[in-house]
Amino acid sequence: MSIRTCYMCELEATSDEHTPPKCLFPERKDVPDGIDYRVNLITVPSCEEHNSSKSHDDEYLLHVLSGSFTSSPVGLTQFMSKVRRAFEKVPSKATSFIRRSEPILLKRHTEDEWEQGAQVIVEAQRLDLVLGNCARALYFHETEQKFVGPVQVITAFTMYSDTKFQANVTSSVDTTRTYFASHPPKGENPSVFWYKFEESANTAIFFMCFYSSSEVLVRLDKREQP
Ligand SMILES: [Zn+2]
Repeated sequence: MSIRTCYMCELEATSDEHTPPKCLFPERKDVPDGIDYRVNLITVPSCEEHNSSKSHDDEYLLHVLSGSFTSSPVGLTQFMSKVRRAFEKVPSKATSFIRRSEPILLKRHTEDEWEQGAQVIVEAQRLDLVLGNCARALYFHETEQKFVGPVQVITAFTMYSDTKFQANVTSSVDTTRTYFASHPPKGENPSVFWYKFEESANTAIFFMCFYSSSEVLVRLDKREQP
């Protein structure tokens, strides 16, 4: 009898890991219009160690994405319900999240319309790790192959302090968006998450979008796969 192994290693799978994390998808009780945003979520087999749902990294991703200035009404609903409850229950989570932040004014739609917001310095490595693992799990979902080599994560919903690097990010994401324009998005809850995928002999690319406009580009370098 063959055993089901983890999407990341050769250990026996003991659970199913949601990719992207289930906490990003609003529960029915939090959605005023009664839409079910948890239809056919993607899961992959996972061992104890590689199931990140017990870590706080998934939750951190939710905090950053749902509260981002690029978040959609669905994302903001999730921020004002699930995230707010978590912050009220454990206030230290809120203080840690905004500990390195400063107030800013955001311009909305028209030139006369300004809104107060906060610029939060994100834990970039943590964000890259969870988004990279999300791409690894999606790669397994797409190909039934494990990818344990290096991944490069580019987040278009954050601002990098290095302006030259930021210009490269914007250009890479613009090019990728154009390249994938005719590819239909995958994922059954597109107002929360969708992705596009393509691979060649050397590289696999995921173009992901959370809450309608927070875009992420992940490159899997297959030449470096051990
Ligand atoms: Zn594992």
